[in-house]
Amino acid sequence: MDVGVVLHSFLPSWSSAGILLSYFVYLALAGAILPGKNVPGAVLSDGTRLHYRCNGLASLFILMALLGIGVSLRLISPTVIADRGAQLFSVTFIFSVIVTLLLYITGCKSHDNSSSLRARATGNFIHDWWFGVQLNPHFMGIDLKFFFVRAGMMGWLFINLSLFSKSLQAGNANISVILYQLFCVLYIIDYFFYEEFMTSTWDVIAESLGFMLVFGDLVFIPFTFSIQGWWLLRNKVELPKVAALMDCLVFLIGYQIFRGANKQKHVFKKDPKAPIWGKPPKVIGGKLLVSGYWGISRHCNYLGDLLLALSFSLPCGASSVIPYFYPIYLLILLIWRERRDDSRCSHKYKEIWADYCEHVPWRIFPYVY
Ligand code: NDP
Repeated sequence: MDVGVVLHSFLPSWSSAGILLSYFVYLALAGAILPGKNVPGAVLSDGTRLHYRCNGLASLFILMALLGIGVSLRLISPTVIADRGAQLFSVTFIFSVIVTLLLYITGCKSHDNSSSLRARATGNFIHDWWFGVQLNPHFMGIDLKFFFVRAGMMGWLFINLSLFSKSLQAGNANISVILYQLFCVLYIIDYFFYEEFMTSTWDVIAESLGFMLVFGDLVFIPFTFSIQGWWLLRNKVELPKVAALMDCLVFLIGYQIFRGANKQKHVFKKDPKAPIWGKPPKVIGGKLLVSGYWGISRHCNYLGDLLLALSFSLPCGASSVIPYFYPIYLLILLIWRERRDDSRCSHKYKEIWADYCEHVPWRIFPYVY
C-alpha cells in the first residue's frame, strides 16, 4: 500500500466540507420544522428542565427519501460518501476541533451560571477543552449535544448505505455484508424510534460538551463503527450457515437486554409505579430501581450493547482483529463509563447507592464483573 496515496486521500477538500455543511443545515432545518414528541429532559440542579423535540426518525426518513430521489435522478452517486470517506473523516475532525475551541471560548466568557449553560472551567486548557465547560450549550436555538449525537448516528447509517452500494457494485454483497448492514440499520432505526430515551442518558444529563463528546459523536461513531463495512469491501468471508444463525441469536439477545434495560429505566423515571415484567417494581430509597434488568446487574444495558456490538463484528469471521475494533473499544469505554457513573451515583445517592450495590453486586456481567 502506497503511504503517500493513503495520506493524500485524507486531504480535506472544499467539496467534502460542502457535503458536511449541507448535512448539518438539513439536520438543523429538519430538527426545527418537523413535528416530533416534545420530551422534557432530566431536572437540572436549579430545578429547570430542557425540552427535546424528538423528530430524528422523521428527519432520517425524509433525508433517505431525498437522497433516494437524488440517486434515481443520477444527481448524486450512491457511493459518494464511501468514495470520499477519508476526506470526510478529516473535514469532520477539523470541524470538531474548531467547534469545541469555540465552545471552550464562549463557555469561559459566559456569565450565565444557570444549570443549562454552566461554565465549568477548571483553568486547565487541555482538560477544559477535552471535557467541555458547558453542560448544555445552544446555538441558534439548537441543543448542540442532542444535535451532534443525532448527526453521528445518522452519519453512521449513511456511510453504511454508501458502503453497501459499493459492495453491490463490486458484486460481493454476500451473507456477511447483509447481516452486518441489516443489524446496523435495525440498531440505528431503533435508536431514532426510541430517541426520547436519550434524554435520560449519562451523556445528556451529566456530560459537558467538549472535544471528547463532539469527536465521539461526529467522528468516532460514524467512521469507526463502520469499520466492518469497510473491511468487508476488501475481504471476502464465507460465513457458515450455523455461524450466521448464531450471530442472529447474539443480536436478538443483545437487543432484548439493551432495549429492555434502557426502556425499564426510562419508564421508571417517568412513572416509578409502572410494572416491570408484570409486577410492581422494587425500589431502593424511592429512587433506584432494583427490578427487572436493574436487579440483575447495575448496567445490564451495557451488557446488551456489548452483545449487539459483537453481533456487528461476527459476520466478519475470525481471520482478523480489525473488524472487532468496535466491540473491543466499547468494552473499554463502558467499563470506564460504569466506573465514572458509579462514582457519580454514589456521590448523588450516598447510602441509597451503597444499599443498591449490596442488593446488586454485579456491575455489568452477572457473576463475572
Ligand atoms: P445509563 O442509561 O445506564 O444511565 C446511568 C444513569 O441512570 C445514572 O447516572 C443514574 O442517573 C441512573 N441510574 C443508574 N442506576 C439506576 C437504577 N437502578 N434505577 C434508576 N436509575 C438509575 O447510562 P448511559 O447513558 O451511559 O448509557 C445509555 C445507553 O447508551 C446504554 O445502553 C449504553 O450501552 C449506550 N451507550 C452506547 C455507546 C456507544 O458508543 N455505542 C456509548 C455510551 C453509551 P440519575 O441521576 O438520573 O438517577
